[in-house]
Amino acid sequence: MSCVKGCKMAKKVYLDYASTTYVSSEVLNEMLPCFNAIYGNANSLHSFGREASSIVDRARDRIRNAIGAAKSNEIYFTSGGTEANNWALRGLAHAYSEKGKHIIVSSIEHKSVLDACACLEEEGFEVSYLSVDKNGLVNLGELIHLIRKDTILISIMAVNNEIGTIQNVKAIAKIAHDYGVIFHTDACQAVGAIKLNVQDMEIDAMSISGHKVYGPKGVGALYVKEGIRIENLIYGGSQERGKRGGTVNVAEVAGFGKAVEIANRDIVINQQKLRSVREYFLNAVKERIEYVEVNGHQMQKVNGILNLFIEMVDKESLLMLLDLEGVAVSAGSACTSNSIEQSHVLKAIGCDDERANSSLRFSFGKNTTKQDLDFAVDALVKSVEKLRSISALTKAGRR
Ligand SMILES: *Cc1c(COP(=O)(O)O)cnc(C)c1O
Repeated sequence: MSCVKGCKMAKKVYLDYASTTYVSSEVLNEMLPCFNAIYGNANSLHSFGREASSIVDRARDRIRNAIGAAKSNEIYFTSGGTEANNWALRGLAHAYSEKGKHIIVSSIEHKSVLDACACLEEEGFEVSYLSVDKNGLVNLGELIHLIRKDTILISIMAVNNEIGTIQNVKAIAKIAHDYGVIFHTDACQAVGAIKLNVQDMEIDAMSISGHKVYGPKGVGALYVKEGIRIENLIYGGSQERGKRGGTVNVAEVAGFGKAVEIANRDIVINQQKLRSVREYFLNAVKERIEYVEVNGHQMQKVNGILNLFIEMVDKESLLMLLDLEGVAVSAGSACTSNSIEQSHVLKAIGCDDERANSSLRFSFGKNTTKQDLDFAVDALVKSVEKLRSISALTKAGRR
């Protein structure tokens, strides 16, 4: 469609897929009938209910398959990754509190883990925050050193949402079990990015989310291995084996199951695509903009996330200029980027305030095109030039 003069259909490019994705059409098609055609309560005994519950069962089976769980009833649907993380930390801690009250998490966890820990600390638990190296990897020796007789839970994320670093989850889980400690991982960014197999990786509990993998928002799951105790989250119904009451949101659960199935099915092809997208983008940026460095691990990371230190620009100003140009990026995780608070992840990997203040996260999607990238790089060049030209740092500093 052509535009009349003066009406510009501005191109927009979304490079914030680690914050959330759109719902893919395959997923949407899975969901749509559940809003009206199939409206039974999955808990009802009649045919309407059975039809709904068969959809929920299928979604649970899809998740089980994708994460390699032994049984479908080890999957508990939640309202998302945040709820799953809260439940895991609090529910496991309280269930095992007679054994001890010490918990270990990494210092680069998502806020939903860190804030749950802060709450546990107020309740008398003790939390150790495991440091990470400049690549964002936890030190396994330090982990062993931190484990005590009263340690009951270790929670370390599989993939970091700001820098994309992939932890050695299997090795961490093995250490936990060597010392008889339960291991939970936040795998919200890992689904569709790395192969997950909870049995092979010896994971006791794992959080996942729908909207990071082209599924709907407001739905996720907590995997809890059979035999592991966890306190109930919501009282008031027999749903989710009595652990999380409330009428199941069949449409969301159906979309979530489909999204995770697809993400797992397409993992290799998507990661290949994302790798070339990231490399193309990074090469173009480095070619055209001076003083740019990558934050986090160079190799052991997911391909969809690229955190860049762009010297002599303020991240918030750059984010806003890019937004004016139609390019959406992130200045931290979505949860903290509204505040002026410094990224705890960049701090933890050793970035000083200046570096953290000049770092942005670019995250790519499975359908990000070369044209999108060219457009974004042009916008970035223009915005960085503008900011550097007015930057006092520039005048006083490097150039
Ligand atoms: C997005 C995300 C969460 C939170 O998931 P929601 O479904 O948005 O609540 C937790 N951990 C990580 C690593 C995430 O990326």
